[in-house]
Amino acid sequence: MEKQFDIIPLNEWLPTDSFPLVISGPCSAETREQVIGTARKLAAIPQVKVFRAGLWKPRTRPSTFEGVGDIGLEWLTEVQQETGLLTAVEVARPEHVEACLKNKVDILWLGARTVVNPFSVQELSEVLKGVDIPVMVKNPLNPDIALWLGALERLNKSGIRKLAAIHRGFYYYHHALYRNQPMWEVPIELQRRVPGLPVICDPSHISGRRDLLLPVSQKALDLEMAGLMIEAHTDPDHALTDANQQITPEALSELIASLVVRQSRGNPEFETKLQMLRREIDKMDAELLDILSKRMKIVDEIGQYKKENNITILQKQRWSEIFFDRLNLGSRIGLRHEFLLQFLQLIHEESILRQEEIMGFNEAGGKTD
Ligand code: PEP
Ligand code: MN
Repeated sequence: MEKQFDIIPLNEWLPTDSFPLVISGPCSAETREQVIGTARKLAAIPQVKVFRAGLWKPRTRPSTFEGVGDIGLEWLTEVQQETGLLTAVEVARPEHVEACLKNKVDILWLGARTVVNPFSVQELSEVLKGVDIPVMVKNPLNPDIALWLGALERLNKSGIRKLAAIHRGFYYYHHALYRNQPMWEVPIELQRRVPGLPVICDPSHISGRRDLLLPVSQKALDLEMAGLMIEAHTDPDHALTDANQQITPEALSELIASLVVRQSRGNPEFETKLQMLRREIDKMDAELLDILSKRMKIVDEIGQYKKENNITILQKQRWSEIFFDRLNLGSRIGLRHEFLLQFLQLIHEESILRQEEIMGFNEAGGKTD
């Protein structure tokens, strides 16, 4: 657990009266009409509390739309005044921070491409020293939890206490279902390491396409994430950036209505039954480990016996018999094939390792001490 963080709880700097908390707005601000038009519609959705818009866009290729820049700040001031929504903007350079502060943007965020670079994060932290503004930090492109933590740490050390993390998925060389692999275990580990740090999920950049927004959002809620950041545009098909993943404010409203809100605690009857089941699991886990330990002791005994009789450790015939027998047995009693494969393989590897130690050599083939 990371002890050095000093974080103000999310509900002290964002209204969290309607669940879930939603941050929405276009990927990029394009025109005044688009910004105000989208914000008006989003403001009518009770869960939307923050209006996001990118003004300086980090683009992979030059000569694609790189954002409207400073002029967008004026449109965001109009959004604040007309709708009462808070505003959030991505900052990547100290000049962006200064322009946002001058124009009273409510919340800043650091994008995935900025968080990979400690020099940039340090520069931004320095201009933010002594400024009381909430900052949200997207995960870096690669699933490096230390890099994500490091960025949060640099900001926190500069006195930013209204901090949140945004989980937007991770770059993966093989384009599978998602634009960015969710790797849910990474934000879960971040939360474990920094208790009290709100983690907001960005299903838009994870999905990269509209039909995945609902299942990804649902998963985020089921993992008790603090909120959702979802891109919305009045005319998503013609958006200048991220057109495939943006949705209309109407579609966002439907998406929010389709989310199933599960409580993290149930009624007393439910809790009693749950506790009973958990106790059973605890007992079974202890039995499982006990059996596993007994099995390994027999493996050791066999190893000793093989050593005394100068017999090889790995006897392929015996192993393939075991493998097929246990696979059949397990499948018949409802265990998944893939799980059985991995489980049996793991037991086999451990058995071989133990017998190698008994024989007096380790995995690398050298003598053990
Ligand atoms: C964005 O939010 O539009 C954006 C550029 O996101 P990311 O930094 O996650 O790619
Ligand atoms: Mn985007």
